[in-house]
Amino acid sequence: MRFVVDTMLGRLAHWLRAMGYDTLCLGPADDRRLLQLALGEDRILVTRDVRLARLAEARGCLIRAAEVDDQLLETVEKLGLAPPEAEWLSRCLECNARLEPRAKDEVKKLLPERIFGAESEFMGCPGCGRVYWAGSHADRMLARLRQMLGRKGPG
Ligand SMILES: [Zn+2]
Repeated sequence: MRFVVDTMLGRLAHWLRAMGYDTLCLGPADDRRLLQLALGEDRILVTRDVRLARLAEARGCLIRAAEVDDQLLETVEKLGLAPPEAEWLSRCLECNARLEPRAKDEVKKLLPERIFGAESEFMGCPGCGRVYWAGSHADRMLARLRQMLGRKGPG
């Protein structure tokens, strides 16, 4: 399942990417562009705009929650998502590209010494060049995802 997320839901887009889903979130984009992406690329259009969700018909996913944790849970429950943990943190949070393994030598000049010294596994983004590594930040994101997905919605 792939997504295009309304500009207003940028933080939700970030967490969908963190779960490994191909998620577009454009800068300011008009409704027509969002609909084109939903229909043309077979993406679910995630939006808080009732009218836009209706226009997207079967591909629309209307989000009512205001807080990002609740929005994520609402999306997961509405669409019956069950993201496998093996896919978590497999995608660039900034630009959506799939991350690739990077050799330690390759990232040496890109990272602060303390991180380079402490970590041994690195992933790189072929899209924007960012480097990711398994460390405390990644652990916190994984813990937060487990916590968010483990919660039950109201009712
Ligand atoms: Zn990137």
